[in-house]
Amino acid sequence: MRPFDDYHGGGYTMLPKLKGGNARRDYGHWLVERGQTSCAYCKMSLVDSYEHWLLLTVDHVIPVSEGRRLGIPKNWYESYSNIVLACSGCNGFRNRYEVSWREPKESWEESEFFEFRDRVFEEKAALIEAARNSETRFYNDRVAPVASAVKSHTRTV
Ligand SMILES: [Zn+2]
Repeated sequence: MRPFDDYHGGGYTMLPKLKGGNARRDYGHWLVERGQTSCAYCKMSLVDSYEHWLLLTVDHVIPVSEGRRLGIPKNWYESYSNIVLACSGCNGFRNRYEVSWREPKESWEESEFFEFRDRVFEEKAALIEAARNSETRFYNDRVAPVASAVKSHTRTV
């Protein structure tokens, strides 16, 4: 189940170009109002509390720089069809993502764009999951012990 499945036309109808300059208030909120409320990668809710909402970002599935390099029409890679909600943690794991396996093209069919977006999404999701697992291990090994030491210290004061 991918976030696009719920988009107009099952995710395969080109949606309008993004409006506004702020993820939380503008284009991210556009998705929230249409029922997308959690991180596309780790599934954490981004609307169930104010603190979670502050972590709401928008991920361009095909990164803007890659869309430009590959010759994809700007109205497509800057459209709602190319974005998903992501928590700032997941978004930060892959903010340098590059598509090494794809060459620029003179012209793109919409169907090619959607296939490409879907493949990039799958690939990013796997990379982000691996990064999360590594970060989880670090947290458990190095951060949680500090947190619990601080907690027990606070209790004895
Ligand atoms: Zn996430």
